Amino acid sequence: MEFSKKVAAIHPSPIRDMMVRAARIDDVISFAVGEPDFHSAPNVIEAAKSALDNGETKYAPGAGMTKLREVYAAYLKEAIGVSYETENCLVTTGGMGALFLGLTTLLNSGDEVIFSSPYWSNYGQQIVLCGGKPVAVDVDEAHDFVIDPVAIDKAITAKTKVILLNSPSNPTGSVIDAASLRAIAEIAVKHDLVVISDEVYRHILFDGETYTSIASFPGMKERTLIIDSCSKTHAMTGFRVGFATGPLNLIREMTKITEDVWSCVNTSAQFAAIEAFTRGTDYREMMVAEYEKRRNYIYQRINAIDRLSSIKPMGAFYLFANITKTGLAAKEFCDRLLDEAHVAVVPGDHFGTHASGYVRISYATSMQKIKEGMDRIEAFVNRL
Ligand code: PLP
Repeated sequence: MEFSKKVAAIHPSPIRDMMVRAARIDDVISFAVGEPDFHSAPNVIEAAKSALDNGETKYAPGAGMTKLREVYAAYLKEAIGVSYETENCLVTTGGMGALFLGLTTLLNSGDEVIFSSPYWSNYGQQIVLCGGKPVAVDVDEAHDFVIDPVAIDKAITAKTKVILLNSPSNPTGSVIDAASLRAIAEIAVKHDLVVISDEVYRHILFDGETYTSIASFPGMKERTLIIDSCSKTHAMTGFRVGFATGPLNLIREMTKITEDVWSCVNTSAQFAAIEAFTRGTDYREMMVAEYEKRRNYIYQRINAIDRLSSIKPMGAFYLFANITKTGLAAKEFCDRLLDEAHVAVVPGDHFGTHASGYVRISYATSMQKIKEGMDRIEAFVNRL
C-alpha cells in the first residue's frame, strides 16, 4: 500500500518510545512524560459522571456546548484581560486539535510558520501535515531560551504566514517577557501575519509572575489564535478538551472542519470542563503551588551536580538540563541513564537539532519520586 507523502514525512514520537522502554523496567522513575501526575479534581469527575447518568450521551454542537463557550469566554477575559464573544471560542479535541484546526485552516502549500527552537515537536509534524513549511529559529540558553524578536523579523519571507509562540514553553519552561511580546506583536502587525499563541501552560507560572498574552497588544486580537486546553492546568489530559479562540471568520472556518471530520468534542467531557472553569480555581492553584516546590527542588539539585546545569524554568513543568560537560550526546546520556540508573528523561535534540547537549526533565511527578530520581541522576553522572 502506498501512503501520502505528507504522512511519510512525519515520525513517531521518541517520547512515546522512551515511555514504552521505561514501562518495561520495574523500579523506573520516569521524567519523560509531559502529563500532570495529579488526578482530575473529584468535582470534575463527578460532573462527567452525572452528565452520563442524566443521558447526556448525544452529539454536542460542532463548535462546542454554548454553556462551555460562555464560561470559557468569561474565564479568558479574567485570565488575559481580552474580551471575546462566545462565538469566538471553539471547543476542540485538546490543544492539539485546536492547533491542527488552526494550521489546516490557515496554511496553503509552502506557507511558512516561524517558531523558536527548541520546540514541542508536534509543531513541526503538524505544520508538515498541513502542507506548511516549519521555520525554526534557534534560541539559546544564554538568552533563557527566549526568542529574540529581531531573529523573527530576519526569518520572515514572502511565504511567511504564521508566527507560532509557546509561553511558558515545552520543553524549556521559559516564559516570553512582555517587552518581547510587544515587539513580536509589532512585527506581526507590520508584516500582516497571524500569530498562533499556544498558552496551554498559562497558569503554571512561578515566582508570582502574571501572564501576558500577545492577544492583549494593539492590533493583535484580530490576528491571534489562542490555543488552550484543560489538559495541563486542570489535570484533564484524558478528557481531551481544548479551545481555539480568535477572529470570528477564522473560528467559523475551523468549525466547518470540525463538523466535517469529527462532529464535536465528547459531550460528557464538555460538562466536566464547565465544572473545571466554574469551580476549578482552588484545585488548579494547589497544583501550581506544588509544581513550584518541585521546580525549586529540582533546579537546586541539578545545579548542584558537577557537570550538569540549567536555567531556572519560569513556568510549565519542564527543566532543560545542560549535559554538555558530561561529554555524552543527549541520546547516549538518556539511553545509559535508563539502562544503568532506571531513570527516563528525553534527549534535547528531539526538540530541535541544535539541542543535543540537553535533556528534558518533566517534574510532573511526585516529590518522593523526584528526590529518588535526582539521587540516581547524581550518582550516574558522578560515575561517568
Ligand atoms: N501545546 C504544548 C506546548 C504541549 O506541550 C501540549 C501537550 O503536551 C499541548 C499543546 C496539547 O495538549 P492537549 O492536546 O492535551 O491539550
